Amino acid sequence: MKINVFGIVFTVRLAEIPDNLAGLCDYDRKKIYISHRQSIEEVWTTLLHELGHALMIRSGVAQSVSNDVIEIIVENYSRMLAEIISVGERDRILSGLKKKKARK
Ligand SMILES: [Zn+2]
Repeated sequence: MKINVFGIVFTVRLAEIPDNLAGLCDYDRKKIYISHRQSIEEVWTTLLHELGHALMIRSGVAQSVSNDVIEIIVENYSRMLAEIISVGERDRILSGLKKKKARK
């Protein structure tokens, strides 16, 4: 599926990614990969988290703040979004996700 982050269109896929990662935002390639080994709840929070990374880079925040701070912002923001977006809306959005292997 495609998601527009302030004019930059990202392709989002379920994928086989390294075991230590839940998701991956490849900003240069405009790809977001979500580990296929997760529950739907985890896929959702991971998607929101990785979109947060895309937003932090797109907005310029990531270029001026440490990675630790970015992780705190992105994780808290994604959890907040997961709480306020209905399950029905979540399922509608996630229905567009397809599985594809991540390229290295
Ligand atoms: Zn992160």
